Amino acid sequence: MKPATKFIHAGVYPDPSTGAIMTPIYQTSTYVQDGPGRHKGYEYARTQNPTRTQLQNALAAAENGKYGISFGSGLAATDTLLKLFKPGDEIISTNDLYGGTYRLMRRIWEEYGLRFHFIDMTDAANIGRHVTAATKMIWVETPTNPLIRIIDIEACAAEAKKAGALLVVDNTFASPFLQNPLDLGADIVMHSATKYIGGHSDVVHGCLITNNKEIADQLYFLQNACGAVPGPQDCFLLLRGLKTLHVRMQRHCENGEKIAQFLRSHPMVAKVHWCGFTDHPGYAVAKEQMKGFGGMMSFELKNDTVAAAEKVLSSTKIFACAESLGGVESLIGHPASMTHASIPREERIANGLADGLIRLSVGIEDADDLADDLKQAIESV
Ligand SMILES: *Cc1c(COP(=O)(O)O)cnc(C)c1O
Repeated sequence: MKPATKFIHAGVYPDPSTGAIMTPIYQTSTYVQDGPGRHKGYEYARTQNPTRTQLQNALAAAENGKYGISFGSGLAATDTLLKLFKPGDEIISTNDLYGGTYRLMRRIWEEYGLRFHFIDMTDAANIGRHVTAATKMIWVETPTNPLIRIIDIEACAAEAKKAGALLVVDNTFASPFLQNPLDLGADIVMHSATKYIGGHSDVVHGCLITNNKEIADQLYFLQNACGAVPGPQDCFLLLRGLKTLHVRMQRHCENGEKIAQFLRSHPMVAKVHWCGFTDHPGYAVAKEQMKGFGGMMSFELKNDTVAAAEKVLSSTKIFACAESLGGVESLIGHPASMTHASIPREERIANGLADGLIRLSVGIEDADDLADDLKQAIESV
């Protein structure tokens, strides 16, 4: 099945009790049994819910995976995943990652004895230098947030295999339309479905997808045992969002290209980070492993100060100053004070994330309107 058909049909079926073509919101906490232990596969709604079942199947299909496991947020998915490991286990992660994932790893899981190495993975050969007998997982996020660096998933999969470790890819930025890590050798894909999959900035959700039955069984066990499950209304919204993912992503890519070119040509802009530029260091890999370059980018003004960035952020009229990304409407953010505020400044600067860096999630409005909005905001500085 091609993506457009898959996102609309795969994993979902009309409701067996009524024929409703759209999966109903099963707003129930429990299910009546014919007698003790004699039930229809549904016992209690933390364990199973029919709306969630269809969503999990649809998400798995979207990533060319067999098993989907859904959670109340992206971080709940990652938190549950980290429970696969034991004190002393080591995890090698990219150093340019979502701030909340970094906080979860450093502030929570390090306290429980997991050990993390945050390294530059733009050269996957770097991974081998940090592998020990205790290495259990390689954590990759690509394109990275907010510097839009590209990591070669296939090369990481080869390193993970050598190390005997799982390769997990946070695929939130690319979405299942632009990139499918399982096809490139990853063991597990993680999504903050809050972003492109939901696509309408109205729901928080996370998921894990794998083809490995043993891992899936452990994750279903943890999903039920730890309980960070999504509600049925949220699952419904995700099912609805997924059906238009391909159409939205095509427009995000078109608008992304126009805005990246506009920014690059503006005399007050010093640098634009977008992986569709042919001179981007990750361009060749991005072209190979992604179907398009997406609508995420960041840029620095020649006047690289917090004050200048603040002026731009408070001057846009269409771009809304807000955290998050991937919705139909364009958002503008200042990573140093917003999404990445939990990363210490020295570490942030050392990783190339400047004080004045501005991040854009380019939406699917008219591209000329978006460019005009950025132009007046930049020129207000
Ligand atoms: C938002 C985000 C997360 C966290 O997901 P939540 O749904 O907010 O918990 C993880 N990774 C990336 C890349 C994100 O953008």
